Amino acid sequence: MLVAHILNEKGRDVVSIRPEATLQDAAAVLTRHRIGALIVRGEAGALMGIISERDIVRAIAELGQAGLALPVSTRMTANVAVCDESGTIAEIMETMTRFRFRHLPVVRDGKVCGIISIGDVVKSRIYETIREAEALKEYIATA
Ligand code: AMP
Repeated sequence: MLVAHILNEKGRDVVSIRPEATLQDAAAVLTRHRIGALIVRGEAGALMGIISERDIVRAIAELGQAGLALPVSTRMTANVAVCDESGTIAEIMETMTRFRFRHLPVVRDGKVCGIISIGDVVKSRIYETIREAEALKEYIATA
């Protein structure tokens, strides 16, 4: 299965935040959308980074409540790993496992056109496994 198939299924909405917003703002947006990471976009919508719930938890662990007043830009990861729609799920799983993160923005023509989370990957693997089992059962029944 390809990244494009997952995006066709789940949609291409990408929730983003500005770098000058606070971690408190970011936590509110994450909660409202029930997601684990946000794309950080600058003035013209350019990809500047990614901030995940882990970054917010770390800031709170280090600074307590004061951590929530920090700007997103101070805690985001600026060097964002991305993939494109022609990537396979196996490739994405490898990238997420190797670099230990759970979100991968999808880029087309230099612009973010979707985001894949580890939850999407697990869902697609379960779907594929069920489909394979059904195909095998059918094969055995008709053999
Ligand atoms: P996550 O597991 O996605 O919640 O993120 C764990 C850490 O990796 C956080 O510090 C994120 O800012 C960072 N991170 C998440 N996704 C990416 C990505 N695609 N590229 C680079 N860093 C990322």
